[in-house]
Amino acid sequence: MTADPLAIARDLVRCRSVTPDEGGALGFLQGLLAQAGFTVHRAVFDEPGTAPVDNLYARIGLAKPNLLFAGHTDVVPPGNEASWSHPPFAGEVDGDTLYGRGAVDMKGGIACFVAAVLDYLAAVGGRPKGSISFLITGDEESIAVNGTIKLLKWAAERGETFDHCILGEPSNVATVGDTIKAGRRGSLNGTLIVSGRQGHVAYPERADNPIRGLVTLITALQTPLDEGSELFAPSNLEFTSIDVGNPTVNLIPGEARARFNIRYNDRHNRAALKALVERRAETAAAGRVHYAIDWQPSNADVFVTKPGPFTELAVAAIAEVTGHKPKLSTSGGTSDARFIKDYCPVLEFGLVGQTMHAVDECTPIADLVTLTAVYRRIIEKYFA
Ligand SMILES: [Zn+2]
Repeated sequence: MTADPLAIARDLVRCRSVTPDEGGALGFLQGLLAQAGFTVHRAVFDEPGTAPVDNLYARIGLAKPNLLFAGHTDVVPPGNEASWSHPPFAGEVDGDTLYGRGAVDMKGGIACFVAAVLDYLAAVGGRPKGSISFLITGDEESIAVNGTIKLLKWAAERGETFDHCILGEPSNVATVGDTIKAGRRGSLNGTLIVSGRQGHVAYPERADNPIRGLVTLITALQTPLDEGSELFAPSNLEFTSIDVGNPTVNLIPGEARARFNIRYNDRHNRAALKALVERRAETAAAGRVHYAIDWQPSNADVFVTKPGPFTELAVAAIAEVTGHKPKLSTSGGTSDARFIKDYCPVLEFGLVGQTMHAVDECTPIADLVTLTAVYRRIIEKYFA
């Protein structure tokens, strides 16, 4: 191995790149990739009400296919630094483990794919048969509006096209090689608002308590949405808050609200799902409960990368290096794969997720070595 993933990971962890700060992380990658012959671009995006965020796109080669590695250098805040056993931005190695914020989510993953690509390029005389690209954002962990979604659009406007993408998020559950994420559930937020008529609790006949209607609708909406599908768990609607905000003991409130979130599978799209929920509410209300549903805008629609040659290639590479046949999973929260899937098929494969976002985030050094070998094998097979 000509490039050392541990050295790259340590340098990245030492950059204090808490969203939206670049913290030197993209600058470090830019130097490394430019030296290896990549054309490297930086693009800062912003919009009203948000902090500007720095992003990086790099490519080597002009020919197709273009294999894209995607990821983020931003990290969540460390919380109370005193509660860490090793400082979160020191990149300390203790025994056989690397500690630090981003060690698994996902500076470690970036270090592995950069090391794998540099090693591959060295082995083939500096140029891939097709093209290899990196799309690295500094805006994933927060609101994700000035990152991957805009960087993909920016790249497309420059005529860039991608054939397949590996997103290096921590996808594995217990061991490198156990899980590929091949899709993600969609996420949709709504607020249920029931209106009644305010009044004195001692004279309920003169009022209309909206809490009664809210309870009726909440009960009706909590029934299962489906039974799951081939690659997905059942969709789930979960109420997250019931809000009346009534500080008075003898007052029937005039309005009651409840917020909910739906994680939905590929049996639905956003419009059909909204229609289903609205139909159920209407039936339960039976003309007696006055209500409205306020849907919040969402950019997290469900998607799945259907099994095919690219998935088979990745599965084979993982099996050859780790001895595990990875499970194809669609569990977990949303990721930037939801944006990438509009441009090319995307699979997520990275380190083991156990300590992500936690105090003492860390990764075994052996996992960095294994993941680098997996990426290296994927590249070799891809351009074979
Ligand atoms: Zn991440």
